[in-house]
Amino acid sequence: MTTPQDINAQIDTLIAAGALFVANHSGGKDSQAQLIRLLERVPATQMIVVHASLGPMEWTGAMELARDQAAEAGLPFIIAEASKTLLEMVERRFQSRPEVPSWPSASTRQCTSDLKRGPIQREVRRYAKAHGFKLIVNCLGLRAQESPGRAKRKEFSQMGISNSVNTWYEWLPVHDLSTDQIFSIIKQAGQQPHYAYALGNDRLSCVFCLFGSKGDLRNGRRHRPELLQQYDAMEKHTGYTMHMSRIPLVELVA
Ligand code: SF4
Repeated sequence: MTTPQDINAQIDTLIAAGALFVANHSGGKDSQAQLIRLLERVPATQMIVVHASLGPMEWTGAMELARDQAAEAGLPFIIAEASKTLLEMVERRFQSRPEVPSWPSASTRQCTSDLKRGPIQREVRRYAKAHGFKLIVNCLGLRAQESPGRAKRKEFSQMGISNSVNTWYEWLPVHDLSTDQIFSIIKQAGQQPHYAYALGNDRLSCVFCLFGSKGDLRNGRRHRPELLQQYDAMEKHTGYTMHMSRIPLVELVA
């Protein structure tokens, strides 16, 4: 069994070996606390911050929060953009296979793989190549408390995408922290979390997420009514619902 001490030793070895540490930053509280923690340990010369842009689908100010936190720390900031938006992805799927659900689901999360993971890996590869990094530590602000699936994730592991050019590791530096601890790290650093939390949001990222709680979705309706209309129109057009509950979005936010 891998102990926290083993993981710490491996991280120290990777820092000493000059690995590139990639702080994935959604603009959410967990990413923000993660970056604060990383800066306490990893030299800034070995770090970059990457934000997967969801364009108009994400909360206004999420990218700006990630960008400003990176700038304050003097870190390179990269925006990873997909070639399509979430709604375009849904439309394409509907056009090619109308007989299967057009929206991403918990088991088929193309939104994460196509709009976030893929574009981020592409940008990190580019950066690593341009700056001579061979070892890459991909840091994610996932926490065990968020879901049973995330609780099962290993805190540190080698990634399957490693090849003869780059060796990739995944590290979850805030995996064992509670929500209160996350907010407390942000407060102690003299920073503010994204304003959506003060509005009552549990999570950030897409305004309308397939995993979103009713409260988050209702906040989305209040602040992005025009986006709600687009999601509603796409649900009606495809005949499939966006949310994992399979309840139409307009009913969930009512
Ligand atoms: S926030 Fe939700 S809908 Fe958006 S990419 Fe992530 S899982 Fe998909």
